[in-house]
Amino acid sequence: MSTPKGRASPVPASRGGARKPGAARRLLESSHEIGAVRRLVDDAADYRRPEVRRLRCDLALALRAAAHHGLAEGVCNHFSAELPDGSARFLLNPRGLLWSEVGADDIVLVDAQGRHLAGRHAVEPTAMFIHAAVHRLARKAVVMHTHMPCATALALTADRMLDTTLSQNAMRFHGRVRADTHYNGLALSAEEGERIAGAMHGADIIFLANHGVLVCGARIDHAYDDLYYLERACQAQCLALSSGRPLAPARADVAARVAAQAEGERLQSELFFAALRRTL
Ligand SMILES: [Zn+2]
Repeated sequence: MSTPKGRASPVPASRGGARKPGAARRLLESSHEIGAVRRLVDDAADYRRPEVRRLRCDLALALRAAAHHGLAEGVCNHFSAELPDGSARFLLNPRGLLWSEVGADDIVLVDAQGRHLAGRHAVEPTAMFIHAAVHRLARKAVVMHTHMPCATALALTADRMLDTTLSQNAMRFHGRVRADTHYNGLALSAEEGERIAGAMHGADIIFLANHGVLVCGARIDHAYDDLYYLERACQAQCLALSSGRPLAPARADVAARVAAQAEGERLQSELFFAALRRTL
């Protein structure tokens, strides 16, 4: 068999001096391959760990609950939950599934750059830009993004967000909400995700002008309770606005007291999620 034209004949392996660089490169390549395989195994093993499976179950339940409560839109938008091991990896709903059909084994594991690590489905690349940035920069363990109708409707008004002094449901969010007033089109870059994360300024919830909302938290059950009651509060404000009558807010200090009281009643959030687990 002839050597292809233009390529030098391979140096015989028995010629000691010429052998070392090739052997070293091969060794290096092997160690990279072993590292990649080991990483793959670790990700797959981590995906199956009981504590990660519990997170996958809860994330899937939150998605089905959101569909049940009318907060979903097509096969768009994402809920994500960071693994609690400091690895910056997070769980995410997959591309192309309705929220109502998502089960624990449909959830995918991705890294901070949005690369698929484990799970049987593909990932929508655009999910990364907002979620990765909010996990990393705003230090939020759970991020829920929706275009839910009434919250989105308020993001279209000149106020850009909920008035947290109106209904009792709204008051639980007093001091926890921000508005990002700069709509820049679809969030299709890391820079846009980072800009949104920066606009949160530590808030748990951000209304995205002309777009939707992000609801974040330390736990899936608490964040879902916030998501649900945020939409209820926004619905009440939309209905009140539709009456055409002037609105009658409570005092800001009363709203702040209600927010503190609601934070002390988190058992309600956990019982709500437990009830959803029994029924969905
Ligand atoms: Zn969106």
